[in-house]
Amino acid sequence: MTTLRLILGDQLNSQHHWFQDVNKHISYLLIECRSETDYTVHHIQKICAFFKAMRLFAAELQSKGHKVIYITLDHPENQGSLAQNWLFQAKKLSVKKIGYLLPDEYRVDQALSEAAADSGMEVEVADTDHFLTTRTDFGAIFSNRKQYIMEHFYRTMRTKYHILMDEYAQPVGGKWNFDHDNRNAWKGTPGVPELPNIANDVSDIYQMLVKEGISYIGDIKEKELPWPVDAAQAKQLIQHFIEYLLPYFGSYQDAMHTQETYLFHSRLSFALNIKLIHPLEVVKAVETAWKANPDDIQLSQAEGFIRQIIGWREYMRGVYWNKMPGYKHLNYFEHKRPLPSWFWTGETKMNCLRHAITNSLQNAYAHHIQRLMVIGNFALLAGIDPDEIDQWYLGIYIDALEWVEITNTRGMSQFADGGIVGTKPYVSSANYIDKMSNYCTSCHYNKKLKTGDKACPFNSLYWHFYHRHHDKLANNPRIGMMYITWDKMSSTVQSEMIQQAERYLADAEHL
Ligand code: FAD
Ligand code: SF4
Repeated sequence: MTTLRLILGDQLNSQHHWFQDVNKHISYLLIECRSETDYTVHHIQKICAFFKAMRLFAAELQSKGHKVIYITLDHPENQGSLAQNWLFQAKKLSVKKIGYLLPDEYRVDQALSEAAADSGMEVEVADTDHFLTTRTDFGAIFSNRKQYIMEHFYRTMRTKYHILMDEYAQPVGGKWNFDHDNRNAWKGTPGVPELPNIANDVSDIYQMLVKEGISYIGDIKEKELPWPVDAAQAKQLIQHFIEYLLPYFGSYQDAMHTQETYLFHSRLSFALNIKLIHPLEVVKAVETAWKANPDDIQLSQAEGFIRQIIGWREYMRGVYWNKMPGYKHLNYFEHKRPLPSWFWTGETKMNCLRHAITNSLQNAYAHHIQRLMVIGNFALLAGIDPDEIDQWYLGIYIDALEWVEITNTRGMSQFADGGIVGTKPYVSSANYIDKMSNYCTSCHYNKKLKTGDKACPFNSLYWHFYHRHHDKLANNPRIGMMYITWDKMSSTVQSEMIQQAERYLADAEHL
């Protein structure tokens, strides 16, 4: 009996158990389709990177002897959606059995499970073998707890996978978390190494997308796409990270600078999210490097990095599958303002936002603190509708897939979930941005001023945010101090600041 197994664009794991044996009765199907190019407006590098990686993966399977059907976006038989293409090809081949791997995104999961149920064919479903927890493990880990505290999850993962643990099942170095050692600004040294030499030619894909009239944002050098599109390039990125970047990763992970886009960040998220590499492989490589070179790579650097992958990344997926589909609609602060149009151009007088957004448009990338404490911070202070923010984040970043995008954006960055992911909103005035970057020194606005034409918008918007959400935040024990500070201000200062913020909000297009 012939089986048609569907492989999604973010399931490119050649180590998966499905591919271990070649079976002439099994065909694999990979599909480029409009349902995926059009569910939001994506960055052009993102679409090109996905399709390039899928094409290479299909070729790799074929070279190993597997039967593969590849439907390009401009294929005459293309049916438009994943589900329609899958069933169309299944009927064309007269198969009796169809198969798929558990999708990471709720939207795709629904579409495929419904299509499978309606198909009348036998259906096989397998796990992707990629994550360190199943969809339901998360609920079990937190079954006796009121809050989803990430640190608890992280320690559970460290223990379960015996990562950075000693022979007595205690964390090496006597501490679970070295975050306090990891908060430096970057002032030009240590030097940031060149990017690894990854330059993929995607001009054929780019031309096809243009011909097919696909909407997109951002810039691309079609012959030099710098993102890894196969497992060998993903490994190259890990090696580069360990050799040159890991020794400084933790120290500068929150730093931002006008001259540097990536600093000491790994740029591994795309390769991880489309499963070119396994998270455990990355984590083990880092742990091994630290063990081999403890003088060059401090424990705090390795721990800081490992926490992002087995902690935050895995935790976000757990929240997603625990809280979807309702999570997508949460809007705790009932924010409704539209996204200013400069989110699509970078043309704002606020230097921090201009840099973070321009980087995003040029490179399909901004690092975590730019996403959280510049772009997300502004959006939250300004009361932008989380639906609009989600769409922007979902489109613009190379690594944006809903399970990890929405939990970070709606949850961590916008507190729209009312405190599921974070215990308090991540907001700041100019102070934090100035401390962690050199943005303020060349800004149109003055970081020190709270009122007046040149006052940094973050300063008055910060207090406006706390003032307007007093009812929802005043009882939060992690925030109480802010209201004590606010109450100590004279009513004249308070009202000048509120009026300043309201003037800025009314003219957000021209900030
Ligand atoms: P590094 O700084 O080198 O970190 C190493 C790895 O850790 C990353 O590759 C990533 O896999 C993982 N990681 C780090 N932080 C997180 C986190 N908070 N959640 C999940 N994984 C994490 N990440 C995505 O993969 N896709 C997204 O769509 C996405 N959207 C985000 C939106 C907002 C508002 C914020 C604040 C963060 C978002 N992140 C997202 C998390 C994080 O910013 C990116 O994973 C990271 O910037 C990718 O760059 P890097 O590979 O150089 O990361
Ligand atoms: Fe951003 Fe304000 Fe600093 Fe300008 S002064 S870079 S707007 S924080």
